[in-house]
Amino acid sequence: MTEDIKDDSVVLLKKLEQIAMECRKCRLASSRTNVVFGVGNPEANLLFIGEGPGRDEDLKGEPFVGRSGKLLDRLCEEELGMTRKDFYIANVVKCRPPDNRDPLDDEIQACRGFLEKQIEIINPKVIVALGNYSTRFVLNKTEGIKALRGKIYSINERYVVPTYHPAAALRAGATVVAQMRADFIRAKMALCNN
Ligand code: SF4
Repeated sequence: MTEDIKDDSVVLLKKLEQIAMECRKCRLASSRTNVVFGVGNPEANLLFIGEGPGRDEDLKGEPFVGRSGKLLDRLCEEELGMTRKDFYIANVVKCRPPDNRDPLDDEIQACRGFLEKQIEIINPKVIVALGNYSTRFVLNKTEGIKALRGKIYSINERYVVPTYHPAAALRAGATVVAQMRADFIRAKMALCNN
């Protein structure tokens, strides 16, 4: 039965990815190199959600492959004891906003069906929302990450742990990285919770 569920998740995610690869529902389609759908374990208990692909991600077609990705990987190993084979990573928008600008509201709305379906298929126990856009998306709130981080939310039978985007942590320095570490420990507690 578990194997069947795993197979279903793999097949359903693959079908969804094929649809995303052809998607031209918003203006970001015209400037992208690759659609960055998501990577990782299709039946993971833990899902990270970022904002959108940057330059390195757009070129490679994979989320969090630049300096931000290295910080994410390091915190996962050090605080969660996990590597990329243990979780799944996706973004709010699947195509790179030009010049790394923030995604616009109509772009997020155009793309939201892909992320909603990814969450449904993967069915994670814990979502770690990285930064303002993913936190607002998952919690359906308007406040910023500073106000929302620091606790575990229970929503739609999942735990949600908001934290800073690794790119913001790299810019801000050690204090914010330490706050991210504390949030990752919250995620670990949520994963262990029954
Ligand atoms: S960002 Fe999302 S909605 Fe816009 S073109 Fe890319 S996949 Fe389609």
